[in-house]
Amino acid sequence: MKDILLMTPGPTYVSERVRQAISKPITNPDLDEEFFAFYDDLCFKLGKLLNTKEDVLVLCGEGILGLEASVASLVEPGDKVLCVANGVFGEGFGDFVEMYGGVPVYINKEYNEPVTIKDLENALNKNPDVKIATVVHCETPAGLINPIEELCPYLHEREIITIVDAVSSIGGIRINTDEWGIDVILGGSQKCLSAPPGLSFLSVSKKAWEKIKNRKTPIRGYYLNLLLWQEMWKEKRIFPYTQPVSDIYGLSEAVKIALEDGEDIYRRHKKIGKAVRETLKQAGFQIYPLEGFESDTVTAFNIPEGIDDVRFRRHLFEKYGVMIAGSWGKLSGRVWRIGHMGENARDDRVFKFFAEFQKALQDFHWDINGNGKKLSEIFAGNL
Ligand SMILES: *Cc1c(COP(=O)(O)O)cnc(C)c1O
Repeated sequence: MKDILLMTPGPTYVSERVRQAISKPITNPDLDEEFFAFYDDLCFKLGKLLNTKEDVLVLCGEGILGLEASVASLVEPGDKVLCVANGVFGEGFGDFVEMYGGVPVYINKEYNEPVTIKDLENALNKNPDVKIATVVHCETPAGLINPIEELCPYLHEREIITIVDAVSSIGGIRINTDEWGIDVILGGSQKCLSAPPGLSFLSVSKKAWEKIKNRKTPIRGYYLNLLLWQEMWKEKRIFPYTQPVSDIYGLSEAVKIALEDGEDIYRRHKKIGKAVRETLKQAGFQIYPLEGFESDTVTAFNIPEGIDDVRFRRHLFEKYGVMIAGSWGKLSGRVWRIGHMGENARDDRVFKFFAEFQKALQDFHWDINGNGKKLSEIFAGNL
C-alpha cells in the first residue's frame, strides 16, 4: 500500500508506538490476570483523560456501539428522551431512541448553529417529563461544537440523565465529565486518540447505573447490555465475551501518549484548528459553522463552485496520496472536511497537506486568493 497522508476526521494517522503495541504477543484475556490488570489500568487512564471518577468501560466495537449501547441500556419503552439534533449524529441518536421504544423529543436546528440553554428551556417547558437527554459535543459532519460545558450542568440540575457523544473531541478538547455533571460520555479509538478503529469506551455515573438497574423491562440484547459489564466484570471479574487483546494494547498506548502530553495536547489542537481556519478564510473559502462554534479537531468548509466533490477528492488521493472527507446528509457535496485531530494535529502534517491540496486545486484550475503566497506559507504564518 502506498504511503498516504490521511487527513480525514477519523480514522487518523496511527503512530509507530501504537502500531508496535498492537503487534505484541497475544494472551488469553479470559485467563490471564495480568491482562485483567492491564484492562483496569486502561479504564483508569481513560477516566483521567475524561476527568471522571465514575466507572469507565471499553466496548469491543467502534464508536457507534457506544451510542447504541448507552441508549439500549438506559432508555426504557415509553421514556421521553430529549435529543439535541443539530447534526447527523444528533439526529441518529433519536433513531436509536425510537428503536428501543423511547419517545424522542427533538431540538432541531441548522447544522451550523449550536444548541443553547434557551433551546433546552423551551423544549423542557413543553416536555417536563423528559428523563434523559442526548447531546453530541463535536458534530463531526459539520465541524460544529455544542457548548456541553453549559448544556450538561443545566440538564444535570434538572435531574435529567445526559448521554454525550464526544467521539471526535475526547483527546482534542478538554472535557470535565464530573464537573459538568455528564452521566455517560462516550468516545472511540480512531479519532483524536489516533488508534485504529475498533473500540469504543464510555463512562457511567452512579445515577446512570441506578436508572439501568431499576428498569422495569429487561435490556434487549447482549452485546449492547451495559449491566452485564457491571454484573460480570465489575462483580465477578469475568469478561462478558473475549476481549480483542491487540486493539486494547493499541488503545492503551494511544491513551498513554495523550496523557503524557497533558495540557499541551489541547493547546496544540487549539493552535492548529485556528491556523487551519484562518488559512482557509484568507484563501477565499468559507468555514461552515458559525464563528465561535468551530471545532478545533475538524474543519468543514465550502467546496469551490464548479469543482466536483468526488472527482476532486479522488484526484487528490490518486495523484498526491492525500485523503480528505466530504460529508453526509444535507451537507453531502456541500463541504469538505479536514481532520486535524490526534496525530494529525501536527504542524508538519498540516503544512504538507496544504502544499498538496493547493497543487490539486491548481490541477482543477482553481487559484487561491493568496496575494502571491502559497497556502502552506499562509498556514505557517498563522501558527
Ligand atoms: C466517528 C463518530 C462516531 C462513530 O461513528 P462511525 O461513523 O461509525 O465512525 C460517532 N459520533 C461522532 C460524533 C463521530 O464523529
